[in-house]
Amino acid sequence: MLRFCAGRLYSVPMASFSDTKKFRQALLVWYKKNRRRLPWQDGVGHLSKKERDYRVFISEIMLQQTRLDQALPYYERWTRSVPSFEALAKAPMQKLLKLWEGLGYYARVRHLKKAAQLIVRKHRGEIPPDYAKIRALPGVGNYTAAALASFIHRQPYLAVDGNVFRVLSRILARPFRFSRQLDRKRLSEAASRLLDPSQPGEFNRALMRLGVLVCLPKNPKCSLCPVRFFCRAYKRGDVSKYPLPRRKLRPPHFQIAAGIVWKEGKILIAQRKPNGLLGGLWEFPGGKWKKGETLAEACRREVKEETGIRVKVGPLAQRIRHSYSHFSITLSIFQCQYQNGTPRPLGCQKIKWVRPKELVKYPFPRANQKIVPLLAAGKLLP
Ligand code: SF4
Repeated sequence: MLRFCAGRLYSVPMASFSDTKKFRQALLVWYKKNRRRLPWQDGVGHLSKKERDYRVFISEIMLQQTRLDQALPYYERWTRSVPSFEALAKAPMQKLLKLWEGLGYYARVRHLKKAAQLIVRKHRGEIPPDYAKIRALPGVGNYTAAALASFIHRQPYLAVDGNVFRVLSRILARPFRFSRQLDRKRLSEAASRLLDPSQPGEFNRALMRLGVLVCLPKNPKCSLCPVRFFCRAYKRGDVSKYPLPRRKLRPPHFQIAAGIVWKEGKILIAQRKPNGLLGGLWEFPGGKWKKGETLAEACRREVKEETGIRVKVGPLAQRIRHSYSHFSITLSIFQCQYQNGTPRPLGCQKIKWVRPKELVKYPFPRANQKIVPLLAAGKLLP
């Protein structure tokens, strides 16, 4: 049985069931020769099903918003240190954030821990065998739920990520836009008939791989494509029309001022509130520059607002540019000396005085990571 949400259905380009069968066959034969060995799929035969499923789950969450090559070393470290749902459910958040440090989208860590707690408490430590229950786990959207249901339980759900969306919109020659939720839903519905119900996980992985190796965003290698004779856009000669391009919005840029506040050889660090952007990570106190003030004035004001103390702002220690998904920043970090006041966590979760060498124990956002090793090595003294 194939499953898809209610909505308008489009016909698929294959004229008959036998064409659909040939399409699946061509794709899966190609995939067998072109698949990539991945640590959560290969060499895990000695693990129990529960342990293997845990690894698939971790990989899927890590690969949301992160490239495979970037995620691989994190995956290795994570699964060595936190090998099961039970271990994850109990692990301290600071340890998890440190393991995730540099991977971005830190809400994923909070969601992972909550999902593991739910899985241990309600599902006997296993990914539930039901799409709706998988979808209800924290941090799991439509794509991840479909991927997990098809990979782990071999259930016939089509997992449509950006690559698969591109491939299918060309095969169907449908002018859909990935950023539109309705278009993603329509495409999934339209393409559902193509999914191989006997091996949905392999089918999904094959489409993803085709998008990575052959059906590239620019200059797809159609002459090498195993499904070119089933591809409507290829047959029409208008591949470049699909999918519709993303609407480009210029992301805003912010000036941020922060202080390395020194007192008796120690530095003041602040932990961000648990929810929201970079939640739970540590940073040097600071914030957004306001019109009409200098960056040094912004630093002094932000430190006071965040921690309640007055500081004397000294020279600029570092200026760092960093891009997040929806905005970018220029972070100006000043050397500061504590003057007076009792530090309190006013705009943050916690504050601490730490020795420079201890800084590496705390998870910091990527923008701060250029400066932390310098301080820890004694190379940025006040
Ligand atoms: S024929 Fe070209 S456009 Fe069509 S699926 Fe293959 S690579 Fe993509």
